Amino acid sequence: MPPLPSIFISHGSPMHALDAGRAGEAWAALGRSLPRPRAILIVSAHWETEAPALTGGARPETIHDFYGFPEPLYRIRYPAPGAPELAARAAALLGQAGLAAEVDPARGRDHGAWSPLLHAYPDADVPVVQLSLQSALGTRRHLALGRALAPLAAEGVLLIGSGHMTHNLRDWVRSGREVAPLAYALEFQAWVAARIAARELEALADYRARAPHALRAHPSEEHFLPLFFALGAAAPGGASERLYDGIEGGALAMDAWLFGPEKA
Ligand code: ZN
Repeated sequence: MPPLPSIFISHGSPMHALDAGRAGEAWAALGRSLPRPRAILIVSAHWETEAPALTGGARPETIHDFYGFPEPLYRIRYPAPGAPELAARAAALLGQAGLAAEVDPARGRDHGAWSPLLHAYPDADVPVVQLSLQSALGTRRHLALGRALAPLAAEGVLLIGSGHMTHNLRDWVRSGREVAPLAYALEFQAWVAARIAARELEALADYRARAPHALRAHPSEEHFLPLFFALGAAAPGGASERLYDGIEGGALAMDAWLFGPEKA
């Protein structure tokens, strides 16, 4: 089996679990188009720890880590099994890279992980391990996490970062998915896309100083860091493909990206 690509997904609001619109169609098409992974290892913006942690249980729970949403959302379960042996293998790889990790046997999966997977792998039959973020440690730390786990792509593991291309909830018009995109969100999205196309990882890692409107696009950094995990996991000579680029509610860029394996 050839190595799998790595993936970045913008997971939207919890409501995307129920109705993800065109972004969800892109996630579903992705799940259908990829070779079936042996397992998935996903980083979500919604689990932050000081040191890397991995879900290690055989049956991780579906965590409903949000408040005040419609009742049907709280009834959703994503029952994909865990993969304790993958968690142990990932912890070993991280340890070899000097990124000592813990395996947490009790931790469940948050909506940043299960909401897009519900659309991409609706049968919930691919085992899933979640890895935590260390948002205080910035972009280069998350490139390093991806690099450390990149060997898993050749072992049939799909590596996914789940965050957001832009994530300013004050600018976001919740009730208006089709509201015209704000200019700054478009500019930031375009800057990132150009840097990704050229694989300018150093420029991307310095995005807070170099990208237009970076601090408005990401008042805090946790939703952007999963992109760096996916970029770190990507083969250096591979092609990048944007799978989706819609902007919802004026300010939430929903980009999904695929970073392909090295060309033969
Ligand atoms: Zn989120």
